[in-house]
Amino acid sequence: MHVIDTSLRSFVEGSENTEFPIQNLPYGVFRYQSSRHIGVAIGDYILNLTNLEADGYFDEILESKVFDTGSLNAFMATGREIWTKLRVLLAKLLAKGSDLADTSQPKYLVKQSDVEMVLPVDVAEFTDFYSAYYHAFNVGSIIRGPENALMPNWKHLPVAYHGRSSSVILSGESIHRPRGQIKPADSDDPVFSATKRLDFELEMGFFIGTGNKMGHPISTGEADSHIFGMVLVNDWSARDVQVWEYRPLGPFLAKNFATSISPWVVTLDALEPFRTKGMDQDPEPLPYLQFDRHQAYDIELEVHLQSESMDMPQQITWSNAKNLYWNISQQLAHHTITGCNTRTGDLMGSGTISGQEMNTRGCLLELTELGRNPISIGEETRTFLHDGDTVIMRGYAEKDGIKIGFGEVRTKILPVIS
Ligand code: MN
Repeated sequence: MHVIDTSLRSFVEGSENTEFPIQNLPYGVFRYQSSRHIGVAIGDYILNLTNLEADGYFDEILESKVFDTGSLNAFMATGREIWTKLRVLLAKLLAKGSDLADTSQPKYLVKQSDVEMVLPVDVAEFTDFYSAYYHAFNVGSIIRGPENALMPNWKHLPVAYHGRSSSVILSGESIHRPRGQIKPADSDDPVFSATKRLDFELEMGFFIGTGNKMGHPISTGEADSHIFGMVLVNDWSARDVQVWEYRPLGPFLAKNFATSISPWVVTLDALEPFRTKGMDQDPEPLPYLQFDRHQAYDIELEVHLQSESMDMPQQITWSNAKNLYWNISQQLAHHTITGCNTRTGDLMGSGTISGQEMNTRGCLLELTELGRNPISIGEETRTFLHDGDTVIMRGYAEKDGIKIGFGEVRTKILPVIS
């Protein structure tokens, strides 16, 4: 179960040395000959599932067509048994010695560099958690002091807010600096202004494959069978807007203008060898939040920043998904414990994933301590993001020389819309 099958080899040349070897097979959607096609990444290529399905390759597994819809939702709705069956078949089709090796190109294999990726999922709803201990502790310490860093509820439940799905965008799409109400420190009244504290948040997100009926919560033990896979998430934040607006109902405009995700959805099956013990939970959570197996994932995370004057990006933080205090099965169990129904395509963000060390903090608010200690990039310094800056997040799990990558989420900041 925790072993990665290193003996599997694909006929796609060089794929074993990329972040998309045959052990990964993440799903994405791309534009191909003016329509949307669905595929899995393999090395520098994409296996075209839309064309394979049209030619009958999946007839024994799928009752009806799911890869001709332009998004992953129809396939995600088929459920875990089908997801795993198809994964086994795709690994066979891509293995060394497969018939496809002779007949595939270019109908079934397209170069990633020749196509444009599009949003993989028709995102139903977006919920964002606040599940990393060090992020919550650091932010609380910066704002309220270390004595009152964590709210009394924090170690008892995975705190979250309901966000917007309409503004979930794909890596590569730029965002404009948002405007809003900001209250200057030396005034009692707010002003209307472009945000001066635009920030990224290093997160991961999971997509619901099969939802639950209203009134029927998902237990921590059942969560895996509902979760299709994971992506990298940059949950953009306007900190000055957030600080003024957030009481008492939480974030609103500070978060609703954009959330960026990576194009490849990495399945839980691919991540299975990377399950690991999460942070110790003390006090013990209430029974509905307890769980049996290891539910955290060992996934390395990076943020790189590039200003317009720099030739290449510079890495500014190093983190890991195992830094989450509340794991994804607890998040889903908590989300649905009221009977709240989730649906195919729902996206759940983890919250900013910060580690304990200074250089593992997952947003600028923490890295610069609310702008008090600027960081250096190239010849410049940053407290918060400038127009023209590009933020790049990457993530991968690695074991026995095999890398299970997420690709990247890359976004450029454009000036405010005037
Ligand atoms: Mn967030």
